[in-house]
Amino acid sequence: MSEQELCTPTSLDEALALLSGAEAQPLAGATWLMRGPLRGEAPPARYVVLGGLTDLNDITITDEAVTLGAGVTHARLAAGLAELPQLRGLAQAAGRSANPAIRQVATLGGNLCAADFPAADLPPALLALQASVRLQRDGSSAAEELPLEDFLAQRADLLPGALVTAVTLPRRIQASAHARLTLKAAGDYPVAIVSVAKSADRLRIAVGSVGPVALRWPALEEALETSVQDGAPNGADIDADRAAALAAELSGDLPARDGVEAPARYRRRVLPALVRRAFAQLSDKDSQGRAQP
Ligand SMILES: Cc1cc2nc3c(=O)[nH]c(=O)nc-3n(C[C@H](O)[C@H](O)[C@H](O)COP(=O)(O)OP(=O)(O)OC[C@H]3O[C@@H](n4cnc5c(N)ncnc54)[C@H](O)[C@@H]3O)c2cc1C
Repeated sequence: MSEQELCTPTSLDEALALLSGAEAQPLAGATWLMRGPLRGEAPPARYVVLGGLTDLNDITITDEAVTLGAGVTHARLAAGLAELPQLRGLAQAAGRSANPAIRQVATLGGNLCAADFPAADLPPALLALQASVRLQRDGSSAAEELPLEDFLAQRADLLPGALVTAVTLPRRIQASAHARLTLKAAGDYPVAIVSVAKSADRLRIAVGSVGPVALRWPALEEALETSVQDGAPNGADIDADRAAALAAELSGDLPARDGVEAPARYRRRVLPALVRRAFAQLSDKDSQGRAQP
């Protein structure tokens, strides 16, 4: 049996130095890593435990933005956004993922950095909210800030030797919602996810678990914006059934994957129902709170 070195840095600089050395991997809540052997993954020579980097646990809310440290757990994320009903979609994504025990330790950073995990809940919710990712690597004093879409597309190249330290969301979102389908129990991975968010000038829709990586769905965004009669994109004015009908027309063009839980055609087939559910929640003014300017 192989043995791994377990390093427990207490500062970001120390962690980054440890990651740049031997074949090393960050370890946050370990809820994804612990199943690595079941997926046939060979362990690295060194794990760099992130639990001692307390700065990664901050949630900072200003008038313009919300910054979430990579070490924030799913449970804290769900609770910490309770005061911001416009970000309900992200709170739902975090608060309904996995099960209560996993949510206590699973982190935002781990969810975004589990590169071979198409069913992750947080990426579609964050894509709809136009999130950006802060990345730091050894020897570079400046953090790199990049749109989540770019991060997800380049994750495999960006991550070795680097740490995601935070995620930032603009506050101009007016409402958001997250709809997910699990086949059996609440703790199962979702087979398909739809996240939606609206701001004054845009509607954003993202899909998770259908293809190999979460993606925006620009074809549906455009079709819905065109269908709004007064020309102003406003999710609250979009009929959920209309959104579902357009999703049914367009879902065949989305990349989809066959997997043990469901084949590609099933994942596409359930999308209209999830779109309907997400838009129904988006229009539910009681649960969304007042719009941000
Ligand atoms: C029973 C069960 C059910 C689950 N259900 C769901 C679900 O419904 N929805 C869902 O989204 N997830 C689910 N998961 C998966 C998992 O819990 C999440 O993906 C979780 O967010 C991973 O976070 P973690 O902190 O445990 O990551 P870890 O396991 O510690 O790490 C995951 C990956 O990210 C890397 N990493 C971690 N932090 C950083 C960082 N800051 N910078 C760079 N790389 C980093 C690690 O090296 C590793 O490659 C489930 C897991 C279990 C065991």
